[in-house]
Parts: sequence; structure tokens; C-alpha cells
Amino acid sequence: MNAPRHGLEAAPAASRIRRRRQTKIVATLGPASGDAEVIDALFRQGVDVFRLNFSHGSHEDHRRRLDVLRDLERRHGRPIAALADLQGPKLRLGTFTAGRIALTAGQAFRLDLDPTPGDETRVGMPHPEIFAALVPGAELLLDDGKVRLEVLSCATDHAETRVVAGTALSDRKGVNVPGVALPISALTAKDRADLAFALDAGVDWIALSFVQRPQDVVEARELIGDRAALLAKIEKPQAIDHLETIIDLVDGIMVARGDLGVEMPAEDVPPLQKSIVREARRAGKPVIVATQMLESMISAPTPTRAEASDVATAVFDGADAVMLSAETAAGAFQIEAVAIMNRIAERVERDPIYRQMIDAQRDAQGAPSASDALTAAANQVARAIGAAAIATYTTSGSTTLRAARERPEVPILCLARSVAISRRLVLAYGVRSVFAPVPDGFRAKIAGAVEVAAREGLAADGDALVVTAGDGVTGSTNVLRVAMVGAERAAAMPQRMTGAEEHGSEFPTKVS
Ligand code: PGA
Ligand code: MN
Repeated sequence: MNAPRHGLEAAPAASRIRRRRQTKIVATLGPASGDAEVIDALFRQGVDVFRLNFSHGSHEDHRRRLDVLRDLERRHGRPIAALADLQGPKLRLGTFTAGRIALTAGQAFRLDLDPTPGDETRVGMPHPEIFAALVPGAELLLDDGKVRLEVLSCATDHAETRVVAGTALSDRKGVNVPGVALPISALTAKDRADLAFALDAGVDWIALSFVQRPQDVVEARELIGDRAALLAKIEKPQAIDHLETIIDLVDGIMVARGDLGVEMPAEDVPPLQKSIVREARRAGKPVIVATQMLESMISAPTPTRAEASDVATAVFDGADAVMLSAETAAGAFQIEAVAIMNRIAERVERDPIYRQMIDAQRDAQGAPSASDALTAAANQVARAIGAAAIATYTTSGSTTLRAARERPEVPILCLARSVAISRRLVLAYGVRSVFAPVPDGFRAKIAGAVEVAAREGLAADGDALVVTAGDGVTGSTNVLRVAMVGAERAAAMPQRMTGAEEHGSEFPTKVS
């Protein structure tokens, strides 16, 4: 039984990394996670998707990290996703002569377009578009909301304000204007340059920051084409107003709680997290819950009880992924943070209450298509017969994403025709992406799914595998088949997997 079958051999031992959870982990790379050994350790501890944060670091830094990821992928023989997060129109104040000033509630403070360093009475804010959109009574939040200003009067080049709260300001602090829709694109000149670089370097996902309106994502999509998947970060109240349309237009969503929590009252963020996750799941688009999940682990080896609870809540909410930012990019305990996140997700998913909650959150689709119905049936069949996994053949990714929307208890094996789709789908709930050729013909597909599932340790002889595929029409799912692993392998022994050679050559790690 050791002879290679269907031209598919066992992957190298190094790749025998098992994830025992369906919820994915996204980790941000940065100064604390630059070198290959650390990135490898993060991957082994459980990171599925690596985030390159274009708010920090040079193109050279990002290129080096991406090279490490691609090398890691080759050595482990499995797809790893890279997500480029564009900074977006993050608004900032200018500088102060003293680097820092003190403020008192009630005092007057002027903002203007003058680039000269500021003092206790005024500071530059080099964004004419904000002045153009301000109205008396509007609120400006500085330094993540630590300082609040109320606009008393304004013109196209300055605003007179009153300090409502806050005691100090220093150079280049961020500015949020929550109540006002700003006439600015979600793509700055820097973002366009970063985007061109990221696409050229071959990242899998592009995250767009400070999306306000559907037009923002339309614009980004035009630039990206099909070179990467597009994810909208929900961090502006204006985006919440257009949530359904935005979700329709993108491939994925991030609940960006950092800026969302500045722009909205703190008590609004937890319910919003729940409704955004639910909407994204209903649409079958991967959703990430992000920011400050294990914040105290930037400088401590264990999380607070509240942080552990926060990660658990996102998992209970049914998010596709939970994310680490500074914890892995700049923290002192980056490996521990991933390990703990991994343990929390595993523990929650084993809990009977988790299954009840996930099933209860399943929203019926408005008008389910035949593909949706078939996918729902696949999940029910898998559960009824205790199948070991659901295998999905996909060209565009939609068959696999449909399976993920059902939030099955068992892994979803993703057999994609292209490397790009294999990598993208790593972000989705429960998906185990592999590099494996997609054979032509129905019988060969069943045999191939069984073989790869066995090779990946997802199913053994005697296990059942539920196989779904879109047969012919891209974007549709119309095949459902139950395969018994042992029987299929015995039957398939003599024949080779047709088409494997041609498709196999595209993969960086040829599995054959
Ligand atoms: P950021 O986005 O880390 O790029 O600001 C995430 C967030 O705002 O939560
Ligand atoms: Mn943000």
C-alpha cells in the first residue's frame, strides 16, 4: 500500500501540521516577527494568514516577509495566505515645536493648514478636505479618542474649537471625524503605490482601510481586477450605513474594532461585531474580527481574563478568523499569543454550547439557489453519517465558500484549480487548502478527493467523505457524492489520475 497512487505522493513530513479548529488565525508581521525562524514558529503554532501592515515598514520589509512566507509554503507543501493591509486615509495632525503640549478642558484650540509646528493655541492639520466638510458642532477625535474637540466655527482653511476632553497631544496624532462623511477616497497616493507593489509581489488579499461608501470598494476593485481578493475593513460609521452593499461588492470583511471603537461609542462595538459577522456569513464571505484581542500580551506572557473571553466571543460569534496586530508585530510574546489564541479557539469549538450557537445563527438565504441547497444538504449528510470531512472541488472558490458558510463541524478540504484560489481560501472557516492537481472526470475527482483527504490525515479507511463540486458551470455547485474512503482507494488503485500531470505543474510544491 506504499506505492504512490494517482501520481500523488505523501507530502513531506514537515508539512504534517494539523489544525484542530475551524476558526482561522491571522497574525500581523512586524519588527518582532521579521525573521524566518519566528515566522515559521508562528505558522507552526497556528497562524493561517499573515498580514503585512502597510501603515508601517518599507516595501523592502514587506517583500522580505513575503519571500519568507513563500519559502515556508514550499517547505511545508501547503498554501499560506498573505494579506496586504493598506493604510488608507488615516488623518493626522502636524507637529508641535515642543513635540508635546498640555491641554485643559474648556480651552480654545485652533486647527489650520499652516505647516509651522504648533503650540498650546494651535496646530496644523494638513487635510483641506476635512475643513471643507466640517460644520459647527462637529466633533473631532484626536489620538484614538483621548482628546475630543468641538468645532465652534470653521472655514475652508481653519477651525476654531473647544477642548471637550483630554490633557495632552503630541506630534502626528491621528484624527477621526466620526459624524461627517469625508469627501475622500479610501485610496491615497501612498495606498495606490503600496497596492501596485503588493499586487506585483503577489499577495493574496488586499484590505482596504476606512471604507466609507460602496464607491470606495468599486474603485479598488477596478485597480485590483482578479489579481487578489478584496477585503473591506469596517471601521467607519458610514460603512455601517452601507454594510449590505459593501459586503456584496467585496470578497471579505474585517471588523476593525480599533478605529471603529474610536468612531463609535464603545458600547456599540460588541453588537456591531455580532451583526457584521452575521451579515458576512449570510453572504458567504470570510469575516475577520480584529484588534486588541490579546493586547496585554504585547508585554505579558499571559492574557487577561477579559481578553481570553473576547477571543472566545469572536469564535462563538462564528467569525471565520480572529486577528493579532501588535501582539505578533511588535510584542515580546508573539509565539505565546498565537498559542493561546489557538487554544481558546480549540476549546470553544469543542464546547456543546458552541455548536448550538453556530447552528442557531444560521440565517436562511433570501432566495437560496440550487447550489446553496445542495451545499446545505452536503453538510446535513456529513453530519448524519458522521463523515470525516467535506471535500470541495472549486474553480472560482465559490463551492468551497458555500461549504464554509454552513459552518460544518468537520474540515472542508479545498481542491482548487489554481494556486491563487487555494491560498485565498485559507482565510475561510474550516477550509483546509492543499496544493493538489484537479483531475478531469467525475470518477477521478472522487478518487482524487479520497486520496488527498487520506494523505492529509483528514480521513482514514472506513471513513466517509462527502464530496461536492461545480461540474462545468463556474460559480455553481451541482455534484454531491458520498465516498467511502477504503473502498474508493481500493477501486482506484490500478488507474492513474488523468489530468494530474498537466495541472500539477502549476503548483509551487508539486505534490505528485
Ligand atoms: P489598523 O486597522 O490596525 O490598520 O488601524 C484595524 C483597526 O482599526 O481595528
Ligand atoms: Mn484601523
